[in-house]
Amino acid sequence: MKIRKNDNVLVIKGKDKGRQGPVQSVFPGRGKVLVEGINIVKQHRKAQGMSGAEIVEKELPVAVANVMLVCTHCQKPAKVSNRIMGDGSKGRICKNCEEVIE
Ligand SMILES: [Zn+2]
Repeated sequence: MKIRKNDNVLVIKGKDKGRQGPVQSVFPGRGKVLVEGINIVKQHRKAQGMSGAEIVEKELPVAVANVMLVCTHCQKPAKVSNRIMGDGSKGRICKNCEEVIE
């Protein structure tokens, strides 16, 4: 997975196409990410006791294939290549501006 928590991503497919948001969680096993404000569904909650029925909005995870990482340097949706950094850690390089994406 090239997308990590707290990355900013752009939705490229689906009903939220063109919108951006920060990644709240990643689900590598399912190939999905949860993005703040993206893929919101309304769920009806049944009335309980004194409180009436209410509609709760929550985000559902979206397929990683439907989002693109937005580069922290050039602010464009970036194709990313992995590179091993000097300290042995894995870095992500934006193919637009060749900068390391934090
Ligand atoms: Zn860039």
